[in-house]
Amino acid sequence: MAEKNEQTYEFQSEIKQLLDILVYSLYKNKEVFLRELVSNAADALNKMQFEFLTVPDLEGKDQELKITIAVDKKHSSLVVEDNGVGMTRDELVENIGTIAHSGTLDYLRKLKDSEKGGQVELIGKFGVGFYSSFMAAREIHITTRSWRKDARAWLWKSTGESGYTIEEAEKEGRGTRIELLLKKDEKEFLEAYRLKNIILKHSKFVPFPIYVDGEKIERQEAVWTQPKSKLAAKDYVDFYKFFENTQEEPETWLHLSSDAPVQFHSLLYVPKTSFELLGLMKTEPGVDLYSRKIMIQKGSKEVMPEYLRFVKGIIDSEEIPLNISRETFQNNVRIDKIRKHVVKKLLEHLDAVKNKDRDKYLAIWKNFGKNLKEGAVNDFDNREKLALLLLFSSSKTGGEELVDLKEYVGRMAEGQKEIYFLGGTDRPSIEKNPALEIFRKKDYEVIFLTDPLDEFVLDHLREFDKKPFKMAESADIPLEEKAADDKEALKEAENLVTYLKAAYGEQVQDVRVSKRLVDSPCLLLNPADGPSVQMEKIMKMVNRDYRLSKRVLEINPVHPLIRKMIALHQADPAAPLLKTLALQLLDNMKLREGILSDTEATIARIQQIMLDAIALPR
Ligand code: ADP
Ligand code: MG
Repeated sequence: MAEKNEQTYEFQSEIKQLLDILVYSLYKNKEVFLRELVSNAADALNKMQFEFLTVPDLEGKDQELKITIAVDKKHSSLVVEDNGVGMTRDELVENIGTIAHSGTLDYLRKLKDSEKGGQVELIGKFGVGFYSSFMAAREIHITTRSWRKDARAWLWKSTGESGYTIEEAEKEGRGTRIELLLKKDEKEFLEAYRLKNIILKHSKFVPFPIYVDGEKIERQEAVWTQPKSKLAAKDYVDFYKFFENTQEEPETWLHLSSDAPVQFHSLLYVPKTSFELLGLMKTEPGVDLYSRKIMIQKGSKEVMPEYLRFVKGIIDSEEIPLNISRETFQNNVRIDKIRKHVVKKLLEHLDAVKNKDRDKYLAIWKNFGKNLKEGAVNDFDNREKLALLLLFSSSKTGGEELVDLKEYVGRMAEGQKEIYFLGGTDRPSIEKNPALEIFRKKDYEVIFLTDPLDEFVLDHLREFDKKPFKMAESADIPLEEKAADDKEALKEAENLVTYLKAAYGEQVQDVRVSKRLVDSPCLLLNPADGPSVQMEKIMKMVNRDYRLSKRVLEINPVHPLIRKMIALHQADPAAPLLKTLALQLLDNMKLREGILSDTEATIARIQQIMLDAIALPR
């Protein structure tokens, strides 16, 4: 076949595995291959539409852009054809021969192993659509010709086993013709009524006409440009399933239309699944930019801020010129205006969901709370709206329950002027932090921060409802217990403080008698407005040379241990045991903060204390 220039290629090994998974175990619902082919054809038509808009004097502008499906019962073949952009030889090799996303296969393997049939439908997202045709076909022929001037036609052939061949071909006009030579058991796909049903089920929103054996299929109009009053929940859900190529329903959606200050329609969805949480990949922007129902840019970076990358949908504006070049998307004043408006409305919508249906919002928060926090740090203009969306656990929430800042402020104690927070690795360890004692006693609520990002967020927000955020571990909180009445006892405690200061030297910023401790002997506090220990630990991870701030040690003069130490100090300020106890007291606090550095010395000291304890008469 030398004159046809046929060349043989091996599949990329990923594709072999993919085919194996697809054909033998994953897809139970074979008919979706047609959806994949139609969606590829529609993509190709869309790209062509775009070229017509931007490249002057292209031939064939008046031709209808369409998808035609035809069956040949005699030869058991099914053909899906489009007059879209087509493919050059290189594009054939590049697009059909490789898997675009590196995470895809991993994900598919996980799916296969997890036997989670339901999630299989998420497959369309991973650029493996075309290969699903091998579920029904024993052999596939792709004849394609690129729209580019002087492009030649090519024929790609494969049985889906080890590889494919490419040779020169004959084809009138641009576009792609995909012929499936069906397997013996897949004859149902030769019946026109069956094909029509599949298309109505999966592809009715495709924005181009589809013909099955010459008959045009009724399609649904662009949902987002229709008045809300004409649409039912089912329409929105159906469109989402089509748009996202999924069986999963959206968590919530927002349909907006506006005439002033800018004209636009938008339909935005929040999904039920976070792919980032599944550990897959960073989500790409999910909102497409349209002008007069024609897609201008898929997954536009310009119409949504990055932190809202989980949002899916469409923004369509007549004011965006159809022939806008890709570069001028950026800094386009109209797009900026639309984005500002839409983002504001979307955040308000989320707040409304939060106030109306807390369970629904909790699901959104679980999936995309991280994104909203990212927004609270980065989206300065909307930080107040984003602050409303944050949820926290706190000293007054139980179990899975979470509180928002408005609720927190609503139940602030009398005289309370600040919003208190306390960080730690998890809830149980935060709850044991002695810094909480005084707050419990005064019945002040303290927000618990377990995500390292939380503190950055509060740091950026600074305040909510004019109430500043304040670390509960800070040395300068305006909360105190009544000072001990016993002046003499206080003076003795002060003597111990002087002793401790000398014993600790440079290790602490200060030592003082506590007015806030209730049950614990002592407490290590943050210097006023300095970063928390959690924050500092992160900084130290980033930069090994980072020096932790010195902290303030407070002692509880009525705690039995401190009282004994005071007594010991009075009796003999030079007692070696006193020194040992003093050093251990501080190390205990460092241990609980996770900032103890000289562990060996500490262990040796503890062992000495143990030995001494054993030697005591019993
Ligand atoms: P995806 O559509 O997610 O990219 P597919 O496996 O469905 O993954 O298709 C792979 C690629 O093959 C497409 O991205 C496109 O570049 C190319 N392709 C498939 N079908 C067509 C077609 N009908 N016309 C032009 N290109 C196509
Ligand atoms: Mg596809």
